[in-house]
Amino acid sequence: MDLILFGPAGAGKGTQAKFLVERFGLPQVSTGDMMRAERKSGSELGQRFDGYMTKGLLVPDELVIELLARRIAAPDAAQGVIFDGFPRTVAQAAALDAMLAKAGRRVDRVVALDVPVEMIVDRITGRRTCQACGHIYHVRYNPPPATGRCASCGSDQVVQRDDDREDKVRQRNAEYLSSTVPVLAHYEKQGVVSQLDGTGTVEEVTRRISAVFG
Ligand code: AMP
Repeated sequence: MDLILFGPAGAGKGTQAKFLVERFGLPQVSTGDMMRAERKSGSELGQRFDGYMTKGLLVPDELVIELLARRIAAPDAAQGVIFDGFPRTVAQAAALDAMLAKAGRRVDRVVALDVPVEMIVDRITGRRTCQACGHIYHVRYNPPPATGRCASCGSDQVVQRDDDREDKVRQRNAEYLSSTVPVLAHYEKQGVVSQLDGTGTVEEVTRRISAVFG
């Protein structure tokens, strides 16, 4: 089964993906996480992502599609994937559909999380991320331990992502509205979209997603 978690940055896609991974035993594929790992490795590809990501702009389709094609060819993706942060343009969606079709698969469901923009800004500017293991905190709703060390892996690298500052968040939201929202219409034509309220607690949103799958 192939699922897409859809919504603006800060809608809770990464958080809710964890629940879907457990429930369906499928890997989470986050293009944002893959790109951050590439940048951290210092690879040439990572350097090409750099300028776009720090400005809050979308990385060009051909680079993203190449990265994703390699990932979904991996053995652990053979039964399906939970896509998080991909596809972000109609061209990416069309490329994904074509890649899956080659394997006799299709996007089974798009779970779209709806969250008002001011709530997004509050969620993302307060977000702190462990650079070592990816664990996510929020300065008010789920503060990192006072020791400054990650509760999950013990690393002292719990920081604000450079693209989580307010001006970048607003830029990313503008990209979402102009380039990513049309992806929803693409999948609505296929009759696979479930649009859900993404506000409230993590557990409330998880319950709404659970109800989609019965
Ligand atoms: P995320 O962690 O999903 O919020 O992504 C962080 C940044 O990575 C985005 O603001 C983009 O610069 C880049 N990015 C991640 N996924 C994609 C994608 N599917 N298409 C284009 N750019 C992406």
